[in-house]
Amino acid sequence: MNQIFDMALPNNGMGILIFQASSIHGLGLFTNDDLPASTILCRRLGLRTALSLRDKRAIIGIDGIDPAVPEDFIFKKINHSCQPNATITDTGCLVNIERVFGDTEITVDYGQLLTGSSWSAACLCRSPNCRHIICSIYN
Ligand SMILES: [Zn+2]
Repeated sequence: MNQIFDMALPNNGMGILIFQASSIHGLGLFTNDDLPASTILCRRLGLRTALSLRDKRAIIGIDGIDPAVPEDFIFKKINHSCQPNATITDTGCLVNIERVFGDTEITVDYGQLLTGSSWSAACLCRSPNCRHIICSIYN
């Protein structure tokens, strides 16, 4: 099941990342363990070059870019939050940027990936600093 993913956590990441109903949107990506900041939650393998912003949008499945790569199923479950607890590195790693506790939804800020894109959507993250719209934070 995880042929494309090199789960960097003990026990090959089994049981660390799970899908469950999200209060933000649909099924989200959650962890069921307490993890220190900067833990590599998973990594997309098979990369020949560093990920561009467009690549990152594609593996998450936003901005109308969908390469239909089923192996990206983990990344496609990552919801946006205006107060994210994770990021996707240029080397394809999903890394939490703060300590997370069990039953926490893993989120990234799509706005950081939307430079040069006019894509936008209503934000439902309900964080205290919610911008109420998901769009590039740099344009
Ligand atoms: Zn928001």
